[in-house]
Amino acid sequence: MDDVMKKRISIGIAVTCLLVAAIVFYKTTLSGPSTGANKNREVYLVCANPKCAKTTTMKMDKYREHMIANGSDPMESMMGMGDTDGPTDYCPQCGELSCYKGMKCEECGEIFPINYALGKDAYKCPKCGYDKYRNLD
Ligand SMILES: [Zn+2]
Ligand SMILES: [Zn+2]
Repeated sequence: MDDVMKKRISIGIAVTCLLVAAIVFYKTTLSGPSTGANKNREVYLVCANPKCAKTTTMKMDKYREHMIANGSDPMESMMGMGDTDGPTDYCPQCGELSCYKGMKCEECGEIFPINYALGKDAYKCPKCGYDKYRNLD
């Protein structure tokens, strides 16, 4: 087997792995085996538009409808998580592409945008410092 062939095969494997990971992530995040529970999962959108600056709480199924209504593919958006290039979602309040996905602090209830640029501190509550994931390691 020549080098070009080997390269092609390894790229193929990498792409397949990525696809599988994306599909698994998509299924567990957006639909999941227990659809009932996931349907009631809430999505937080924190608007970074200074004129709006609202935080929207949406049920997962409403969020999917919202994404589709705005011409976004929910799967693409989920795959874009971790991308620090900018807002990932359209704001249901002002209509701008200015929302970051948010997270609700289990300690104080503060809803804050997940800032991937902070790396390990992305999920740390800016108000009380509680970090759901930090406690796991
Ligand atoms: Zn807004
Ligand atoms: Zn907190």
